[in-house]
Amino acid sequence: MAQPSLACKRALTDATSLCPKRSRISDGLMGDSAHQARKSDHNDGNAFDLTHDPDNGVDCNLFAKLALLDTRTTYVIWNRQICNVSDGQWKPYHGKNGHTHHMHVSIKAALRNVASPWPWASIES
Ligand SMILES: [Zn+2]
Repeated sequence: MAQPSLACKRALTDATSLCPKRSRISDGLMGDSAHQARKSDHNDGNAFDLTHDPDNGVDCNLFAKLALLDTRTTYVIWNRQICNVSDGQWKPYHGKNGHTHHMHVSIKAALRNVASPWPWASIES
């Protein structure tokens, strides 16, 4: 069984440090049983889900853009759209889960142990 990567764990703890009251109801590191039945970066510990909770400081409309600035990110899914860092273009996402309650971020396997701060670690709140 793979372990969650340091990079993904850091992403969620940075969000919690910035927004201690944020909801974590849709957070995820490793895949749930539905994820594990198919190929997912979660199964390798190379993806994280961050709960959208704008009332408590985590607005995924902003955090999705910030995630794309990080060199570890490969793609982001948020609110029925997907963006690959390779082209930086948001495109319609037609997956069964529309990702309207959390954003999904997949990271490069080679950078999974890079635990440096994510862009939201340095937001002034
Ligand atoms: Zn996910």
